[in-house]
Amino acid sequence: MHAPQPQPTPHMLAHCPLCQAAYGDGSVRLLGEVTSTLAVPGTSRLFHLTCSQCSHAILAVILESAHGVSSIGLVTDLEAQDAARIHDADPISADDVLRAHHELGMKSKEWCLGLVG
Ligand SMILES: [Zn+2]
Repeated sequence: MHAPQPQPTPHMLAHCPLCQAAYGDGSVRLLGEVTSTLAVPGTSRLFHLTCSQCSHAILAVILESAHGVSSIGLVTDLEAQDAARIHDADPISADDVLRAHHELGMKSKEWCLGLVG
């Protein structure tokens, strides 16, 4: 008896998971691709998909390795250009977090006034 094989073409990239409409040309955008040789060698690709039927957007990561193909998707309110900008941004460091914590602690009144005013 054979074990079930993963689907080589993720259904997520063919149809909107929210309304099942087929993604049209130009609605799927590749944001980035990383090839890893670490513990599980493979290639992961990040896609932004916009449904022309319901207008919802999905961020999807497709991982291809010797073990098969897997995917993770999440609904997003990011436009494709925003997702690309964030994808290309530098990662947030521990120093960035500490600096933000310090700023919020020292200038909390100004931050609150800026948010409500
Ligand atoms: Zn849809």
